[in-house]
Amino acid sequence: MNESCIFCKIIRGEIPSTRVFEDEHTLAFLDIGSLVKGHTLVIPKHHYNSLTDAPPEVAAQIMATAQKIAQAQLNGLAADGVNIHQANGRVAGQVVPHLHIHVVPRFKEDGYHWNWKAGRYERPEEMNDLAEKIRQGLKPSA
Ligand code: AMP
Ligand code: ZN
Repeated sequence: MNESCIFCKIIRGEIPSTRVFEDEHTLAFLDIGSLVKGHTLVIPKHHYNSLTDAPPEVAAQIMATAQKIAQAQLNGLAADGVNIHQANGRVAGQVVPHLHIHVVPRFKEDGYHWNWKAGRYERPEEMNDLAEKIRQGLKPSA
């Protein structure tokens, strides 16, 4: 637990939240600044700053709860689809430094669009070089 963390305060019940689901390891509650109404955040009950700070079992626990919430949005809100979003680090858009997964219900006419502009690699070698760097990053000493 982190004394000053806003999501740890939500877990402890020190600030209000609209809870949707909880189990031993995870909590799901509505995002106050929803992209689409029903937008839910899933967090681990222990504080980790980001996905890469958490052990793999915690990553599995929050993803299992996110899957449950996605299905519940399809069933309970009659959503037509669901987006999962997860940010790590300020540059990636992470504002609250307590690991969380966004589960966003989507509707045919919700008017929300991802600002996703696909880029292009100029040469196949560039892709190979990048893949090799990531493969090197898989090694424990990296
Ligand atoms: P991120 O930008 O991925 O760090 O997302 C943080 C999210 O937390 C934002 O979408 C905020 O709207 C949401 N948020 C911040 N404070 C609260 C709060 N007290 N209750 C619910 N959601 C919150
Ligand atoms: Zn926290």
